[in-house]
Amino acid sequence: MTRKLIEHADIVTLDPHGAILRNADVAIDGDRIVAVGQAPAGFQPDETLDATNHVLMPGFVNAHTHASMTFERGWAEDLPLDRWFNERVWVVESQLSDEDVYWGAMLAAAEMIRSGTVAFADHYFYMDRVAEAAEQTGLRALLAWCVFGEEHNIGVDLPGTVDFVRRWQGAADGRIRTLLGPHSPYMCDPQFLARTAAVAARLDVGIHIHLAESQEQVDNSLARHDRTPVELLEANGVFDVPTIAAHGIYVNAIDQAILARRGVTVVQCPNCHMKLGMGVTPAPALLAQGVNVALGTDGTASSNDLNMLKEARLAALIQKLHLADPEAMPGDLPLRMATQNGAKALGWPDSGAIAPGKLADLILLDCDQPHWRPRHDLVANLLHSAQAGDVSDVMVAGRWLMRQRRFLTLDIEQILWEAERRALALVGQDLAVVRRYKG
Ligand SMILES: [Zn+2]
Repeated sequence: MTRKLIEHADIVTLDPHGAILRNADVAIDGDRIVAVGQAPAGFQPDETLDATNHVLMPGFVNAHTHASMTFERGWAEDLPLDRWFNERVWVVESQLSDEDVYWGAMLAAAEMIRSGTVAFADHYFYMDRVAEAAEQTGLRALLAWCVFGEEHNIGVDLPGTVDFVRRWQGAADGRIRTLLGPHSPYMCDPQFLARTAAVAARLDVGIHIHLAESQEQVDNSLARHDRTPVELLEANGVFDVPTIAAHGIYVNAIDQAILARRGVTVVQCPNCHMKLGMGVTPAPALLAQGVNVALGTDGTASSNDLNMLKEARLAALIQKLHLADPEAMPGDLPLRMATQNGAKALGWPDSGAIAPGKLADLILLDCDQPHWRPRHDLVANLLHSAQAGDVSDVMVAGRWLMRQRRFLTLDIEQILWEAERRALALVGQDLAVVRRYKG
């Protein structure tokens, strides 16, 4: 186990007191932080890093994404949800091979590390290949193989996802966790949801699902089942296991009380919600009732990037605008949603704060730049001024994944080449032709 000492950092701890430390040190032993402020007496580091002019904070946690959708970035623009899916996204997804999923996930991993994400909750297909990408790149990952019901699945059915859980639960020294991924209450029928919930309980894993993305979904659910989507999931036992519910936009007061009582995590994806014109997750109301609200990017076919710093900023701005209240989502709350709330949902409650005993999942941002000056308020600078490109160093479980903007666990040239040529081939384009067009 190696010992590392990071010196002279300005630290946004996101601890319970919201402590901000200037010119302070962080001592790390193995995968844990052992001291913050000053190294313990006699601490003998194997490696010392001078973090002068850098802000140190917990790494970001992307609590809802489809990593391999990086292949569809910029492929489905300015369309309503039904046309976005049927005319564009599905055209690509119906042809994906497991090798495509791997390279899409590697491209996503590079982008996530580059922008300071240390863990992600993924919901997609051919998930063994996403697990490989997480294993190789050093990220933490909570992985669900998405299924639609008894048929029309991609790669596996429900028993197949059980095998996936058994293969990968706790792999990569515990960095990889798994759960079940029924797509949504509008794609999966109630009997299938109930069966999935029972299987999850037996396996002692959770469920990651899409929930209440449009008023139409709620209206259809009421017409068909006489229940809102939230009520339908509760009635079928889904909330008997830890549940991550993506979006949660159209949830009424009764739904919100159910989500709070059952300990469901709601993942707001502000960039996706704005870009697809979906609506606004009532995050302040949910938080006030004790719901764990985390943030995610969703796939890059809708959000176009995997930038959690941007999601935290938009989570603040969207509520200030929507509620016409500049005091909505104050202080470091959006940063907590983008870090520790996600970490808790993904099963690493010891990640997401800089304090002794916590997991060493942290990032450094270069603040020796015009948009960081003056440094009156580091939280405001982080939330409203910082750029993803300011992230210079990323550590997961005490291991550096990026140092001084250099990737240490992946071959970026190979990833860029494989990802672009494969993504273009899926839509009938040729990289050579594209390059010629661009001159
Ligand atoms: Zn999604």
